[in-house]
Amino acid sequence: MVAISRRDALKLFGLGTIGSAIGMNLSAVAAGSKSVDASTTDSAKWPVPYELPELPYETGALEPVLAKKILEVHHGRHHAGYVRGLNKTLEKLYLARHEKDFSRIKSLSRALAFHGSGHVLHTLYWNSMKPGQAKSPKGKLAEMIVNDFGSLAAFKAQFAAATTKVEGSGWGILAYEPLGKQLLVLQAERHQDLTIWGCTPLLVCDVWEHAYYLQYKNRRAEYVQNFMKIINWSFAEKRLGTCV
Ligand code: MN
Repeated sequence: MVAISRRDALKLFGLGTIGSAIGMNLSAVAAGSKSVDASTTDSAKWPVPYELPELPYETGALEPVLAKKILEVHHGRHHAGYVRGLNKTLEKLYLARHEKDFSRIKSLSRALAFHGSGHVLHTLYWNSMKPGQAKSPKGKLAEMIVNDFGSLAAFKAQFAAATTKVEGSGWGILAYEPLGKQLLVLQAERHQDLTIWGCTPLLVCDVWEHAYYLQYKNRRAEYVQNFMKIINWSFAEKRLGTCV
């Protein structure tokens, strides 16, 4: 699903380079237990850390659909945890390459996909909503929704049904599939598993319990229905504009 390169992710989320590679390298090594020979001729750079993006609105701005407390914990703890995990995993991969020790590659690769997808999807999720009643989609997106789903109402019905019925934790996703040049609604049960390579998610809805449980308990359908009311269509329009 999220076949997004590091460079694209940095560009997409407006993240820049932080610190010189060598400065990062030495300070990070000093802080960790592993040692890297500072005189190495290895030209590989210490990984540039990802940063937790600011929410595009105040934590209370989506009330009453989502309580301030949920946004505080979801963004400040859960999303931050993915960013931390992603950075830690990239450091471990750097050290593994440097030490030519790939004995933990399986768990490291899993951690990379888990935290990387978590970071990307949460960043999309915050932007998939905005304060106030949702307006209707416009332009190419509106045209494609009608072409591919029949009508906006039919899209909404499918998106809400698919998202509500995600088994366990996961995501509902509106995506552009470039081979068939069409929009699809996908369920992602485990976001570390890519569902369709090359798809660009346009709009995502988080249905991990931490996204709604404090407020909605087990009433996921009600949360999804309310999510539909605050969709940020102009964000999805912009994302689609980068595809077609
Ligand atoms: Mn979440």
